[in-house]
Amino acid sequence: MKIRLTQLSVALDYTDETVVLAAASRLGVGRQAVRACSIVRSTIDARRLRGRVRFILNVVVEIDDAAAGELRDGEPIVDDVHETPAGPGPIDMPHRPVVVGAGPAGLLAAWRLANAGVRPILIERGAPVADRRRSARQFWAHGTLDPEDNTLYGEGGAGLFSDGKLTTRSKQRGHLRTVLDLLVACGGPESILIDAEPHVGSDRLGEIVQCLRERIVALGGEVRFHARLDGLELDAGRLVGLIVNGERLATDHCVLATGHSARDVYHMLHDSHVPLAAKAFAIGVRIEVPQSQIDRSQFGRDAGHPRLGAATFRLTRREESDVRACYTFCMCPGGSVIACTASAGELTTNGMSLSGRAGPFGNAALLVPVRPEDCGGDADPLAGIAWRQAIEAKAFAAGGGDYSLPAANLEDFIARRASLDLPAERSCLRSVPADLHGILPAFVSDALVHAAGRMLGKLAAVRLADGVVYAAETRSSSPVRIVRGDDFQSVGAGGLYPAGEGAGYAGGIVTSAIDGLRAADALLMSLN
Ligand SMILES: Cc1cc2nc3c(=O)[nH]c(=O)nc-3n(C[C@H](O)[C@H](O)[C@H](O)COP(=O)(O)OP(=O)(O)OC[C@H]3O[C@@H](n4cnc5c(N)ncnc54)[C@H](O)[C@@H]3O)c2cc1C
Repeated sequence: MKIRLTQLSVALDYTDETVVLAAASRLGVGRQAVRACSIVRSTIDARRLRGRVRFILNVVVEIDDAAAGELRDGEPIVDDVHETPAGPGPIDMPHRPVVVGAGPAGLLAAWRLANAGVRPILIERGAPVADRRRSARQFWAHGTLDPEDNTLYGEGGAGLFSDGKLTTRSKQRGHLRTVLDLLVACGGPESILIDAEPHVGSDRLGEIVQCLRERIVALGGEVRFHARLDGLELDAGRLVGLIVNGERLATDHCVLATGHSARDVYHMLHDSHVPLAAKAFAIGVRIEVPQSQIDRSQFGRDAGHPRLGAATFRLTRREESDVRACYTFCMCPGGSVIACTASAGELTTNGMSLSGRAGPFGNAALLVPVRPEDCGGDADPLAGIAWRQAIEAKAFAAGGGDYSLPAANLEDFIARRASLDLPAERSCLRSVPADLHGILPAFVSDALVHAAGRMLGKLAAVRLADGVVYAAETRSSSPVRIVRGDDFQSVGAGGLYPAGEGAGYAGGIVTSAIDGLRAADALLMSLN
């Protein structure tokens, strides 16, 4: 019989045999009763109770049936997590369904639809991965921007150049398993199936995305690059067609997964009377400190142990009477800070790391929540987009107008002092000293000044004098929601399924991918 055992604490240098012995001891059975033992989840326990880092494992143990009566712990496995249903099977549709956007949400929606036999057409305004990598390199090295193919647009979506963190708060366990299994089948590391904080790295994401595209095509889907959705055709509140690169494409089912950087899409939807609503979001800065200091803070004398890799952190500070809350987001251990934009004259920061996470710096966004009423969102659903755009334009100007990032020394930023120069050792060399407080709204800048030192003080080995702050981090989540019903369809446009981060119901690679799967499932259900 199979038993699930959770919270098994083992030493950093555990071996297969020590895990079996620990599991047998917890179960109260002899070593010989254990036939097999596999780790299904692994979490680093950095509390260092006796000065050492440990691992907390969840394991599945197969034991002799004869030993079942002796068990004093563990939970028999009766029903494992299964793949979620793939839909009703091949269906003859008058028009092929269309998926717009080849980010995580669109790719997974297209894969699900293709798997169900309905031959979707996936359209993407940007380029395939290989061309996109060239565009991104040009942008980072020389500040040359292609507005249709860049760090935010193109195959793989916003997260192609990212840490490839696959953490999610989604409770959709079946869908989560589907996404992770698919990533592994497309070349992702098997460790993502068990790590509590799985990640892939930007160097591996591209190959995974291309493999996923090939699978969609092999299943009867079609992928069109440099194909931009410009408009919707609605008839009596139902979708009847799309305008793509100025031409009509007949369809009555469309998964709209265009992310939250495509401002033109929100304006087009607003003009087509598709209901939109302002939502809360967050903005701030990206901070960078030496990774060795993070490792020492988190792992003490175990820092540098090959099993641990680069350490992460997650810090929060509650709202006080007159100062907003603050939290770290999207930490990239051993990574680089990157400049991003899809629009000329605007600039935002983000973080990226490779699979080895071996770079000398760690970075994270430090964000302050923004409410719709802070930026006029209570009166106009698109106000948050314009507000964010104004900050990005200021960041562009402060960086010197050539897509260099405006930056400051962390200690100077907290003291509201101008930085005359930046540390020579930093990940983003295309950055210049600037007054970051002039870029950010006062309530954001005040909260960051109040919280940054106090929060980073929790990481004992981190020295503020060695840190760099880059501005502005504006794209952590969407300021707009495309209002949809329980059937996943837009409440004002039947047949339109807004999905992913741009729809305002998801954020992050995996949560957006799960949302894309669910939107595709809802579309397939509607065909019944
Ligand atoms: C630099 C960076 C690092 C990140 N790191 C992480 C991370 O480590 N982990 C994590 O979970 N999340 C990360 N994120 C966030 C994550 O990438 C997003 O949450 C996720 O990509 C959202 O997926 P999506 O499919 O909804 O939208 P997107 O990924 O934004 O994809 C939307 C796609 O639609 C296309 N599109 C837009 N308009 C049109 C149009 N009119 N016609 C046709 N196509 C269109 C775009 O070109 C794009 O490819 C990061 C984001 C960035 C920018």
